[in-house]
Amino acid sequence: MSEGENPVNNPPQKPQELISAEAIADRVRKLGEEIARDYQGKELVLVGILKGSVLFLADLARAIPQLDVRLDFLAVQSYGDATSSSGVVQITSDLTKPIDDKHVLVVEDIVDTGLTMDYILDMLRTRHPASVKLCSFLHKPSRVKKPCAIDYLGFTIPDRFVVGYGLDYAQRYRNLPYIGVLD
Ligand code: 5GP
Repeated sequence: MSEGENPVNNPPQKPQELISAEAIADRVRKLGEEIARDYQGKELVLVGILKGSVLFLADLARAIPQLDVRLDFLAVQSYGDATSSSGVVQITSDLTKPIDDKHVLVVEDIVDTGLTMDYILDMLRTRHPASVKLCSFLHKPSRVKKPCAIDYLGFTIPDRFVVGYGLDYAQRYRNLPYIGVLD
């Protein structure tokens, strides 16, 4: 096999744009305004779910400069096939600080079946925070198995596998500034 035929070395396919970088920036600014209004005068812990939420979290945090914000992260491993989770979730890296009596806003890339987020929210609630809310960049309502309330939502999307703006396929495409779909 020549080098060009090795799938690992193939250049990534260019995804078709579904949500532009401009539309993302506009939506994140509006989410920031809403969150800043709701948490005015309170200390807020933004909990990013690694790795997919990193780009969204970075933009969202900068959209609420008027709030007293702390950042923390949870890394989870969600078992299932390549494009769908099973609901069996393992915490692979935990928060660095306790969240008792803190206002926690979980920042997620996408709620698909809802199984991963249901597990994470239940787990965080056992730690006695003052409040726990969810901000998800994307939601695929057609795939929900465990409905969970999304307090702040970026976009509702159809049942397509999306990449970009933090979301990957086999660890690729996270650095795209837009949301795209692969063929
Ligand atoms: P759920 O438990 O809600 O089915 O799955 C949530 C996780 O599955 C997300 O955090 C994300 O990692 C992954 N996921 C679900 N749908 C997509 C998608 O369309 N694109 C990518 N890249 N990941 C997805």
